Amino acid sequence: MSSAADPTLTSRLRGFTGTLIWPDSDGYDDARRIFNGMFDRRPSVIARCTSAGDVVRVVRAVRERQLDVTVFGGGHGVTGAAVADGAVCIDLRGMKRIDVDAKHRTARAEAGLTWGEFDAATQAHGLAVTGGRVTSTGIAGLTLGSGSGWLERKFGLSCDSLIGAEVVTADGREVFASSQEHADLFWGLRGGGGNFGVVTAFHFRLHTVGPVLLAGMLLYPAGQARDVVRAWRDFMAAAPDEVGGGLAFVTAPPAPFVPEALRGQPVVAVIACYVGPVAQGEAALRPLREWGTPAAADLLQPMPYVALQRLLDEGNPKGMQNYWTADFLSGLPDEAVDTLVAHATRPVSALSQVVLIPGGGALARVGDNDTAFGQRQCPWNVHYLSIWPDPADSPRQIAHTRTMAQAMKPWSAGHVYLNYIGDEGTERVVAAFTPEKFRRLQALKDKWDPANLFRHNQNIPPSRRT
Ligand SMILES: Cc1cc2nc3c(=O)[nH]c(=O)nc-3n(C[C@H](O)[C@H](O)[C@H](O)COP(=O)(O)OP(=O)(O)OC[C@H]3O[C@@H](n4cnc5c(N)ncnc54)[C@H](O)[C@@H]3O)c2cc1C
Repeated sequence: MSSAADPTLTSRLRGFTGTLIWPDSDGYDDARRIFNGMFDRRPSVIARCTSAGDVVRVVRAVRERQLDVTVFGGGHGVTGAAVADGAVCIDLRGMKRIDVDAKHRTARAEAGLTWGEFDAATQAHGLAVTGGRVTSTGIAGLTLGSGSGWLERKFGLSCDSLIGAEVVTADGREVFASSQEHADLFWGLRGGGGNFGVVTAFHFRLHTVGPVLLAGMLLYPAGQARDVVRAWRDFMAAAPDEVGGGLAFVTAPPAPFVPEALRGQPVVAVIACYVGPVAQGEAALRPLREWGTPAAADLLQPMPYVALQRLLDEGNPKGMQNYWTADFLSGLPDEAVDTLVAHATRPVSALSQVVLIPGGGALARVGDNDTAFGQRQCPWNVHYLSIWPDPADSPRQIAHTRTMAQAMKPWSAGHVYLNYIGDEGTERVVAAFTPEKFRRLQALKDKWDPANLFRHNQNIPPSRRT
């Protein structure tokens, strides 16, 4: 592969106002680096766009020249699909404009924004939308995969607050998709991933949040995990929509807020927030604090929503090896708790995490067929994130994760959340939906991207290709 500029492509991109980063350009290595350090891919060029017009030019050029293309939002996709060897990368990180209309509680946000950037702009007005739990994640990939976050039981998934999207289609047109215009495309964008075009800007309905909430975590030694998970499970089953959170099996960091005896040890972290006034939150979260054995560390406190959004940042450093899988569970009986605890409290990497996310609330009140994302009645989503620094350790780490996920299969609902898994094949993509819904998505793909130009993703292939 050539490392210098391709003059034919450059001339085809006349009028492109962004930056073309070729393999021999300064900054190429930095620009091609993604969150998951497992992938070291070399695109033929990184086209850092600054406008929808730039995206149109690149899409038309790659179609004409039949080149492979990827889309880079925030680079957090665990499959590494934002970059591919030899492909043209449509890089949206040059598109970070956000306009907040505080009066009408809406925002137009360009697709290169991260959640940290989005939250900072909307929280300046005391507004928010359900967003990713790590600030460097892109709003684009997360929202297109539906988008799970701490606020989802109160306001639904990120995609549930989407009111429109500016899209560059596979044939290089700019269209606006909403419930009024191109409603079929709008439906597919809410959970169908990057299959149907390049979204250049998202239009969100915003909600009043904070800016200060009661939030944080309670830490318990792993030896108490069986009791803690049962108590938390029962608490969440009856919790009001305002209570968000999750339960994470992690290794306690050597931080001052962790009791000395727990540092470097496997622990259970109950993460909680109350999306409403702090005083009401104190009352609503009290049962968590008083369920029995006191937490080894009680870190629940009033904090800005943006601080809650940063809570997991340090535990998720860029560039590590990441092998992830996940399953929706149909229930969490005691036997399932015991099985999960037996595996998750024996991590083979201090960075690895197993996270249980509760369903219910507003996300469960949207009809399964109202958006491409369904599975809204699944009560639990279990996410296994194996994270480690040394590639030589991969076989051991991956084997541990697979064994754990396999042990939990008896309680699997048979469905999976695509934002949380690696490349596990078409069968798992079908399992994210239902066979009927997958066929509907394929019909959409046939209409909007029949040549499967956008195939570096959790791919929904056109019907004639399956
Ligand atoms: C540390 C970390 C924390 C996470 N936390 C959460 C969480 O709390 N909730 C959750 O739901 N998920 C979470 N995720 C998963 C995340 O939602 C997905 O990985 C998502 O794809 C990341 O989006 P991105 O834009 O950053 O990634 P990219 O790697 O840039 O994009 C992923 C894929 O999305 C598509 N895509 C991206 N931008 C566009 C666009 N503008 N138009 C069309 N297609 C596009 C492309 O197919 C691309 O391959 C997390 C991931 C990480 C690494």
